[in-house]
Amino acid sequence: MSEVSKEYDFNCIEEKWVQSWDACIYHFDWQSKKPQYIIDTPPPYPTGNFHIGNALNWCYIDYVARYKRMRGYNVMFPQGWDCHGLPTEVKVEEINHITKNQVPREEFRRLCEKLTEEAIERFHKSMGRLGLSIDWSNEYVTMKPEYYVKTQTSFVRMHQNGQIYREDHPVNWCPRCGTAIAFAEVEYDSRTTTLNYMRFVSAEGEMQIATSRPELLPACVGVAVNPHDGRYQKFIGKTVRVPIFDYEVPVLADPVVDTAFGTGIVMICTFGDKQDVRWWMEHHLPLRQVIDREGRLTAVAGPYAGCSVSQAKDRIIQDMQKEDIIFKQEPLEQNVGLCWRCKTPIEILSERQWFVRINAEEIKKTAEEIEWVPPHMQVRLKNWADSVEWDWCISRQRIFATPIPVWYCRSCGEVLVAKEEWLPLDPNQTRPPVRCKCGSDDFIPEKDVLDTWMDSSISALAVAGWPDRKDLRMPTQLRPQGHDIIRTWAFYTILRTKSLEGVRPWDTILVNGMALGEDGHKMSKSLNNFIRPEEVFATNGADALRQWGAMGGSPGNDIMFQWKEITAASRFQQKLWSIFRFSLPLIANVDATPGQVDRWLLGELDRLVVKATKAMDAFQFDETMKAIRGFAWETLADNYIELVKARLYGPDGQEKRAAQSTLYRALETLARLMAPFTPFISEEIYHTLTEESVHVQSWPEPSGVEVDPAGLAIKEIAAAIRRYKAEKGMALNAPLPGIVVYSDLGLETFDLSGVANSTVESRAGKPDIEMKPVAVKPQMKVIGPRFKDKSGRIIRALAAMDPARAAEQKASGLIKVDVDGESFDLPAEAAEIETETLSAGLAVDVLRLDGASVLVRR
Ligand SMILES: [Zn+2]
Ligand SMILES: [Zn+2]
Repeated sequence: MSEVSKEYDFNCIEEKWVQSWDACIYHFDWQSKKPQYIIDTPPPYPTGNFHIGNALNWCYIDYVARYKRMRGYNVMFPQGWDCHGLPTEVKVEEINHITKNQVPREEFRRLCEKLTEEAIERFHKSMGRLGLSIDWSNEYVTMKPEYYVKTQTSFVRMHQNGQIYREDHPVNWCPRCGTAIAFAEVEYDSRTTTLNYMRFVSAEGEMQIATSRPELLPACVGVAVNPHDGRYQKFIGKTVRVPIFDYEVPVLADPVVDTAFGTGIVMICTFGDKQDVRWWMEHHLPLRQVIDREGRLTAVAGPYAGCSVSQAKDRIIQDMQKEDIIFKQEPLEQNVGLCWRCKTPIEILSERQWFVRINAEEIKKTAEEIEWVPPHMQVRLKNWADSVEWDWCISRQRIFATPIPVWYCRSCGEVLVAKEEWLPLDPNQTRPPVRCKCGSDDFIPEKDVLDTWMDSSISALAVAGWPDRKDLRMPTQLRPQGHDIIRTWAFYTILRTKSLEGVRPWDTILVNGMALGEDGHKMSKSLNNFIRPEEVFATNGADALRQWGAMGGSPGNDIMFQWKEITAASRFQQKLWSIFRFSLPLIANVDATPGQVDRWLLGELDRLVVKATKAMDAFQFDETMKAIRGFAWETLADNYIELVKARLYGPDGQEKRAAQSTLYRALETLARLMAPFTPFISEEIYHTLTEESVHVQSWPEPSGVEVDPAGLAIKEIAAAIRRYKAEKGMALNAPLPGIVVYSDLGLETFDLSGVANSTVESRAGKPDIEMKPVAVKPQMKVIGPRFKDKSGRIIRALAAMDPARAAEQKASGLIKVDVDGESFDLPAEAAEIETETLSAGLAVDVLRLDGASVLVRR
């Protein structure tokens, strides 16, 4: 066998395996008879670089994929790329200092594709270096026609069965991005604004109304009071004049109005917030759209038309103050909805958009058919399902996204949705191959595109072979994902899979935590707590990063990145390497009858396998890795190897071969148990032992060996002897004059003899022990104060006494001494008697343990 270096050279070994591994062993076999295990992996947004958070999530997936493969499953660990959407468009706009409307549509899309391809290339490299067992034969790229044909097919089918429709409806709108966005894309943040108190005039008198958004005054379509508010009864059912803009609106009674907020009268505008939308629908109010798609005021706002929202706000406030309409202002803490991507405050506009019907009850019912790990994450999904106000708006006024395969007839306005067999297509580049019902062939293409979640919410279907394969592999087995996208990716995937195929998307959803920076905050470039995986590859290697991920958390919990944890992982790998390096020239894969100590170790190894298997089945990676580390470091290295060294170095024979094969078994099993976590060092060890790859082996099975209590006793006796030597200040390998072990377990002696460097005799029963007094130790502190100047002589006499007689007298309570003819009675505590333990007449030290006594000759 080749020379093994003293230091574990992670860099050299990891690079070697990255180059030489055969990626085909990770391919899903569509013909296989094995049970399938398809993982609906997250397709990341390929922008920027693969970061620690990605790395952590992919490690979790890889632990599962490798484990299930070893357990005999036909595993698919696909890799998708969720290319479309705002992040890339915004990035392209930033890099090229343009907005989407300043370059031709096709050119803008090309820039987005280029940026995405470059990012995918970088991600590929990082993922390979991390040692992920990705099935590259199942890679998908959502911006490619081969994928977006699936998205378009899903659109056409859901439109056919009435799940997708087009309608004028209020939507959340980002004026900066110039697009509608879904509820799931609105973030809320608290801002301080001003609450303005205004006077409205009606026939019944003045109404005072407080608002934080006076720029929406021209959008006012009504005012509302609480029907139980005694102050305003006379106004209900009447009208009131909107100041400045000078038109009448009705006064409505609605129990939702909070009598304690402002003056207890609210202005209903189209639209300030979601509540406005509810009132607008319930009370069938007219629409006054004052804000346009660019966030500017429309002609409805009269003299303020063309102003931005903030300009209009300033001017309207000024004008109202001049006319004493605003009579009071006060600061207000308010939750403001922001665009998730650019943090611009959103507006609610009524727009003709495409929507997917949301059936919250069906989604919640389907969620119950899925195993949630950890279980409480299901509640988050259900809460979200209950909070969604209106259907999922899926059209976006952007460019880099899947085109909506629809045209509109210029003559009669008919909506022509593409047939499945025409797909994929971009209606802006392809004309429909048929004429309209009215006979016209003059069509206007749909310019809007699909929400990117329309692509990614069919990921489970896509990897399972939808829509082309006859043997569709639904449901898939596992969805791993972060808790931050439960209301989007998980929610939409359940919705779409149920709609399209009538099934749940997965058997199990595993919700993992986020990687936090060393300061405990979410990793971000701006906080400067951002670590790239490549930094860790360079300093400690990919296995160290992977081990940190395993040790750090259980499902659902966030995990903090800490360099000291990475260092600890490296230290363990070095320890494992040292065990391997020591063992390699001594071990042998041979048949031999194991001794007591071997059976203790093999029993412990069985326990480890059982524990690790149970933990892996529950996705408890931390439990698994901790058990492995404890076994390798303490049980194997600190105890077993120390016990059997003498046998390993000793003459050939049954005992030696038993130790050789036991140690081989332990190393080989450890390599397999660790293969899902640390694929590099596991491969290096396993391959050196067997010349085969560990990554095509099966997961260890328990071999049915119980922990031998005799072996366990020997291990504990050995530890007691080590402690004994340490207390005596002896070197651990210092020879001892002889040991007798008393135990009813019939202990074998060869390993103890090696550890103690002594002859060892094993006997049944209890040792015959006597305590012989050997010296008298006068106690100065008792004698001195009592006998003053006579103390010296008393002490000398006491010390000269026969120890056996002194012991007898001390036991009776009084010690008599004669000093120069004078007799003194001393109290018992005036002397301590030193004894020696004797067994069969020889001086010994006794080490007492549970079930055994050890006599060490002095
Ligand atoms: Zn935005
Ligand atoms: Zn027509």
